[in-house]
Amino acid sequence: MSKELIRLSQCTMAFDGEVVLNSIDLVINDKEFLTLLGPSGCGKTTTLRIIGGFATPTSGDVFFDGVRINDLPPYKRTVNTVFQKYALFPHLNVFENVAFGLRINRHGGKKLSKAEITQRVMEMLEIVSLKGFENRDVTSLSGGQQQRVAIARALVNRPKVLLLDEPLGALDMRLRKDMQNELKRIHEAMGITFIYVTHDQEEALAMSDTVVVMDGGVIQQIGTPEAIYNEPVNAFVADFIGESNIVDGIMIADGVVEIFGRRFKCLDGGFAPNEPVDVVIRPEDVDIVDVKDGMLTGTVTNITFKGVHYDVIVDFKGFKWLIQTTDFCPVNSYIGIKIDPDGIHIMKKSAYSGMFGDYSSYSAEYDEIGDADYEPEEPDIEEAPYEA
Ligand code: ATP
Repeated sequence: MSKELIRLSQCTMAFDGEVVLNSIDLVINDKEFLTLLGPSGCGKTTTLRIIGGFATPTSGDVFFDGVRINDLPPYKRTVNTVFQKYALFPHLNVFENVAFGLRINRHGGKKLSKAEITQRVMEMLEIVSLKGFENRDVTSLSGGQQQRVAIARALVNRPKVLLLDEPLGALDMRLRKDMQNELKRIHEAMGITFIYVTHDQEEALAMSDTVVVMDGGVIQQIGTPEAIYNEPVNAFVADFIGESNIVDGIMIADGVVEIFGRRFKCLDGGFAPNEPVDVVIRPEDVDIVDVKDGMLTGTVTNITFKGVHYDVIVDFKGFKWLIQTTDFCPVNSYIGIKIDPDGIHIMKKSAYSGMFGDYSSYSAEYDEIGDADYEPEEPDIEEAPYEA
């Protein structure tokens, strides 16, 4: 990855004494696509505003290219922002909306010629796939096209960094997916840094080089999408990113964890002997097998067809797991499960332990919406005792 461009060092933000960002340390590299991801109110927009210069941290420092910029006003930063509400000028056409930033001119005091403006606007319209739209009224464009105009308008000044605050939030699902691909392409074409804010984990995983997971004004984890998904640092990250079963475990030794009284091989190590841990197991990493071959055995309480797979809820001594499988398992059947060592991920205990990872309420929801008259067939697998 290329060189460091932005650094937030111990940045804290408080409003009326209430801390909403707590001592954030974050390094953003040149040309990186970095996403701030977390639930509503976790401090994503505040972080973005600090980078854009719209907010000054209560304490801590912001560096751009190694220079401290805490007091530098937004218009002096080589940073531009795209918001969820595009705020285009309805009385101007596409060309003039994009040209606006060039006409108000802050290009080192030098006024751009008409030809230069035309060339740069056309260049941008090409990049956002709106060539041929220059004379269109912006009010006649679709939501996705309007968002492209807003992106072109933000990029035409050639910023070093583009800040995007939930820019796809107003678009429907299909368009969102299309625009995610478009944004990735535009990022590559521009070769600049994108800092993106979203609460949508799928969007973050699909687009980013780096994901920063936040909660309660604290950065929980920074990593590639793969690292965040495969090696979450705590139960919050494991729960927020994708589906996960999170159970209590005891780390017996390196590579051996005890869950529900049974020992499982895993790939993690470095914990104290017999240290209590959180264990995350993704639904797609669990195989359903015959009871006699099962590492654990439990009873199916729900099955829902999801297209590519079934979502199966299985009760293990009152703790309900979600398992995703292409095999149909009738409700009430007694099954065994197998998990390979690389499907078991160990996390340190944290303030989030015990808060997530049991699918009892998920199952109850299905029960409620299910057909009340539905009588499950008798299981054809003989009940076997729970082998703890
Ligand atoms: P969302 O996804 O809902 O926009 P967010 O993660 O972007 O959430 P922020 O907008 O950064 O969250 O807000 C973090 C917290 O700071 C919230 O509790 C918010 O109410 C509070 N906050 C933000 N700006 C101000 C302000 N100017 N005055 C007081 N409180 C503020």
